[in-house]
Amino acid sequence: MAKHIFVTGGVVSSLGKGLTSASIGLLLERRGLNVRMQKLDPYINVDPGTMSPYQHGEVYVLDDGSETDLDLGHYERFTNSPLSKKSNYTTGRIYRSVIEKERRGEYLGGTVQVVPHVTDEIKAAVLDLGEPGVDVVITELGGTVGDIEGLPFLEAIRQVALDVGRQNCLYIHLTLVPYLKAAREAKTKPTQHSVGQLRQIGIQPDILIVRTERPLGRENAEKIALFCNVEKNAVIEEMDKEFSIYEVPLGLAEHKLDRLITDRLGLPAGELKIDDWRELMQSIRHPKQEVTIAVVGKYIDHRDAYKSIYESLDHAGFSHNSRVLVKRIEAEELEEQDPEIVLSGIDGLLVPGGFGYRGIEGKVKAIQFARECEIPYFGICLGMQCAVIEFARNRLGLAEANSSEFSAETPDPVICLLEEQKTVTDKGGTMRLGTQPCQLVENSRAAACYGTSEVSERHRHRYEFNPEYEQAFEKAGMIAAGKSPSGKLVEVVEIPAHPWFVAVQFHPEFKSKPHAAHPLFRGFVEAALRYHQQRASVSV
Ligand code: GLN
Repeated sequence: MAKHIFVTGGVVSSLGKGLTSASIGLLLERRGLNVRMQKLDPYINVDPGTMSPYQHGEVYVLDDGSETDLDLGHYERFTNSPLSKKSNYTTGRIYRSVIEKERRGEYLGGTVQVVPHVTDEIKAAVLDLGEPGVDVVITELGGTVGDIEGLPFLEAIRQVALDVGRQNCLYIHLTLVPYLKAAREAKTKPTQHSVGQLRQIGIQPDILIVRTERPLGRENAEKIALFCNVEKNAVIEEMDKEFSIYEVPLGLAEHKLDRLITDRLGLPAGELKIDDWRELMQSIRHPKQEVTIAVVGKYIDHRDAYKSIYESLDHAGFSHNSRVLVKRIEAEELEEQDPEIVLSGIDGLLVPGGFGYRGIEGKVKAIQFARECEIPYFGICLGMQCAVIEFARNRLGLAEANSSEFSAETPDPVICLLEEQKTVTDKGGTMRLGTQPCQLVENSRAAACYGTSEVSERHRHRYEFNPEYEQAFEKAGMIAAGKSPSGKLVEVVEIPAHPWFVAVQFHPEFKSKPHAAHPLFRGFVEAALRYHQQRASVSV
């Protein structure tokens, strides 16, 4: 039977619960255990797919097409736990299922209530992951203890201990100990209150992970242990990391968190093997070169809107022993200003995915600049569609070319709605989603990066390259370098005469890992490094 770990958060949001949960998953895997990861989100949207990145950050897409919370990106980057639609539940999804059952008459005339019907539904979602062969299921609960909407989830995870045995469950609570400069003191009271709230619900945490800016010190740790009713060795400090999020698991391992967990749960674990992770940290700390990549998007001021893009750029940097400096540029800024000024000093340009017209003209202008100045360009999803629009306008002479997403009247819809989307009216979960195979043209730049011509990548879009224009594009120098197996959908475009201009309809950023940078990101950063060296030798 699988053991269950529940990770809750208190005091404030944004403490890095996702990263901490992913790090715990990594440490347990590196002790030879078979781990499953899951996130429960108390908001009412059925999934985050309909939310603005300003609300929620990036929407992370899984192989099976589930649109999920970005914490699942951390899970995939840190662990090998297979993720699917079973890995992320929201209040909306839980309630939808309960209501559908009620409509089918499955509750046999009963009054349907939060306890036990909603809580049973939540428990079923948690227990479902503990299939044979799985040693431990890690379930992270979104939000902060004390949120009204989180209550049914806390109640459900409390009940899991009754169902599977308290000894088979471990409750880990992540809190903050703020340092008050005026008082020159770290304050443990918010942690005490947060644990107090958990205990009111009936959950006594076994382990407290305490986020701090400064070392916690023995006295504070002992005070927290006493007031929160946990053992002294179960108060684990998690200091802010100076260099990289990839330091988090190493810090937790130093405090022997993995040992504490395996001992408490009686897990049959081996030795911790994380030397490769330590080596990775060495190369992160001591990069040999630096390279500057501009990311031009419309949610640039939101830290998490392009999370996986930034992580993938970092991974590509690690693979070249380099540090990637990201210059985040608001697309609209480029609409008024000269790209030569805004984009000066960059070694590569990346335009990520997105929706809606705002910022499009700025992105098109940036891409024109990169194309004409032979700066490496990597377009992703909307970034590919903008590259196609730019090329049509400036190389094919179709001045009003556009995507039908932005202009219904354009005489040249070089990007148009996918056939299968024409009858779709609902917004949630209806895009072309998830992993699809793609056939790359031999000798294309993309095929050279992957080292193969058969790939599969994750998608999330409604619009596509309009095949009616394919020949005209090819003649003018932009080729379809990758297509769906039927040959109907263009998935990759390239400009062979440009040093590195590759744009893809899919989202490679969802498949990059710190030790295994995605081949296209690796190729892009390599081209940017070359460009950087060229620039340096010209200016000498
Ligand atoms: N808005 C575009 C489409 O729906 C691009 C989507 C994206 O970048 N994820 O096709």
